[in-house]
Amino acid sequence: TQDGPEAREIASVIPYFPFKGIPRFYDIAGFLSRPAVFQRIVSIFAARYSPLSIDAVAGMDARGFVLGPPIALALGKPFLMVRKAGKMPNAIRSPPYECEYGKREGMCLQRDAVKPGERVLIIDDLVATGGTLSAGIECVRMLGGVVVECACVVELRMFVDPPEGSGLPNRTKLFGE
Ligand code: IMP
Repeated sequence: TQDGPEAREIASVIPYFPFKGIPRFYDIAGFLSRPAVFQRIVSIFAARYSPLSIDAVAGMDARGFVLGPPIALALGKPFLMVRKAGKMPNAIRSPPYECEYGKREGMCLQRDAVKPGERVLIIDDLVATGGTLSAGIECVRMLGGVVVECACVVELRMFVDPPEGSGLPNRTKLFGE
């Protein structure tokens, strides 16, 4: 908030979670448990996206399901769930992808969730390598939709522009195709 603590003071950082190879886990629970902070997050996102032409807000499983709906309601737009594999009927699935935690099965979106040409905003709590968001983008594109932007509350800067040949998606190129 304007007069409150800095975001970095609220986000707790847990070393070696969820497993030993991960040096830092950023936990956004403290943002959600403070209504003024949660409201500010929603207001910042709503202010950024209300002037843009957006047809729907998609949330990534699982913390995108917490942050996405209030943003969708603030914009007056439908909310869509991009879910982990095997959770939803009548869904398409992106190819498997790599993320900070290793290789994952594809993400899924219900077939009727996006109509061709619809403009979608994707929300998640945090971006590390960008692999999870890339799978969300793939789902929207498989249904003919257009991803306007992806937005997260936390960006792990150590993953920005990974070295060439690392196999990790280059986030600055995600929208430049
Ligand atoms: P990426 O796919 O490598 O960008 O990882 C981002 C995805 O993993 C998001 O869905 C996050 O919720 C989750 N994630 C990765 N690292 C963290 C973290 O430090 N805190 C919370 N979630 C994380």
